[in-house]
Amino acid sequence: MIIVFLGPPGSGKGTYASILTKKLGIPHISTGDLVRDEIKAGTKLGKEAAEYVNRGELIPDEKILEILKNRVLKPDCAKGFILDGYPRTVNQAEDLNKIAKVDIVVNLNVPDEVIIERLAYRLICRNCGAIYNEKTLKPKKPGVCDICGGPLYKREDDEPEVIKERLNVYREKTQPLIDFYKKRGLLVEVKTEKFNAPPEEVANEILNLINKK
Ligand code: AMP
Repeated sequence: MIIVFLGPPGSGKGTYASILTKKLGIPHISTGDLVRDEIKAGTKLGKEAAEYVNRGELIPDEKILEILKNRVLKPDCAKGFILDGYPRTVNQAEDLNKIAKVDIVVNLNVPDEVIIERLAYRLICRNCGAIYNEKTLKPKKPGVCDICGGPLYKREDDEPEVIKERLNVYREKTQPLIDFYKKRGLLVEVKTEKFNAPPEEVANEILNLINKK
């Protein structure tokens, strides 16, 4: 099964995808994480990508497709995968159609105020990728991951100015994908008012929607 998570930055794509990956037994692929890995490794692609990421802009479609293809060709993706952060443009959705058959697209709809608050206070575990929030989802011990004991950090692009740009880019380039997938009968919506619910609860709701599809 191939699942796509759609939604603005900070809508919870990574959080829910990381819960569902365990429940469904298929890998969670975050193109943002793949890009950050390339940047950390200092590859040619990583160096090119860093300029876009730091400005909150999208990496050109052909570059991100190359990164995605390298990942989905790995054997653990044979039974499917969960995509978080891809596609982000209609052109990317068309590229994806050529390499995989999407089964369901989960659209997470969250107001901007909630997003800004979430991203500005977001903390991520450098080791296992678990996501915390300095205000609403604090780790038991400051700066330390509850799950694996790894160090927590703030993403450089979670700065207010960059967040604003990422939201603009989302509206302009990614939002048209909602209609793209609606027209193809693949879209399911997760309602905003449930977003204060614990992540596990929302993930179960998403799982029910997936099972009904
Ligand atoms: P994310 O972790 O999904 O918020 O992605 C962080 C950054 O990586 C984005 O702001 C983009 O610069 C880049 N990126 C991730 N996925 C894509 C994509 N599908 N297309 C273009 N750029 C991407």
